[in-house]
Amino acid sequence: MAEDVKVRVIPLLCPECGRSLPAGEHDVIFHCADCDLAVEIEDGKLARRELRHLAGQGEVRLPFWIFPFRVDSSEGSVRTVPEYRLLAGVVATGSDAERSGPPLLFVPACSFATTPLHVRAGRLLTLQQPVLAVDRSKPVGIEPIVFREPDARIMGQSILLATVTVERKRNRLFLEGFSGSLGKGRLATIPFADRGGKLYHAGMNLEL
Ligand SMILES: [Zn+2]
Repeated sequence: MAEDVKVRVIPLLCPECGRSLPAGEHDVIFHCADCDLAVEIEDGKLARRELRHLAGQGEVRLPFWIFPFRVDSSEGSVRTVPEYRLLAGVVATGSDAERSGPPLLFVPACSFATTPLHVRAGRLLTLQQPVLAVDRSKPVGIEPIVFREPDARIMGQSILLATVTVERKRNRLFLEGFSGSLGKGRLATIPFADRGGKLYHAGMNLEL
């Protein structure tokens, strides 16, 4: 007789309102739009996850993991936004005040059609180093969250490297010494306007 395989089925119900949570095939974090609450299955139980919504205009809310980071390379270490801008070879744009504290790495928690698009979205947001303002109102809905924090950490390394100037990436010594250390990730949604299939963020003048 075959051994019994224990399969535990966890009811996907919102811990707040008790309604069943919408769950797509690849979703890993579930969102109750009524309660604006996110949960993840952890050790066979539903655990709440902090989810913030960043301010901005647009009806499509894309979830991102946001990690504070530092970079160590043959050129020294990078711990601030101005230092990171030098490393990435970008100048600050817009009239926004520079964010203080460590630079932030943006890794999409939703899926894009292809890996290059996924990296591109993370790369563009990371290069922007936007000042983050939280929107307290409840969003209508958010795009499915299909990557957990550990997955996002791994993808984050490629995204971080993708933001570094091509000249530096041609330097073998630089690449060999390159390492990014990520702090604790936070999950946040960022609004984009749907412009006939392209997603646009007005504040950052960014098209995905
Ligand atoms: Zn609920």
